Amino acid sequence: MPITDPVKIKIVEERLHNKLVCRRCGALNPLGATKCRRCKSKNLRPKKKFGGKKGA
Ligand SMILES: [Zn+2]
Repeated sequence: MPITDPVKIKIVEERLHNKLVCRRCGALNPLGATKCRRCKSKNLRPKKKFGGKKGA
């Protein structure tokens, strides 16, 4: 069942982008995390937004 509500889509997209990626092991961590949940590294970066054409 696809989500058609544009407001919900925006929220979902923002949540997908609001992730922290560990530079050490590449694990995704929730926004606000200070340490990687996998390797406990503090070397986290925000996940980049999709810049190019992706999907429709
Ligand atoms: Zn890690």
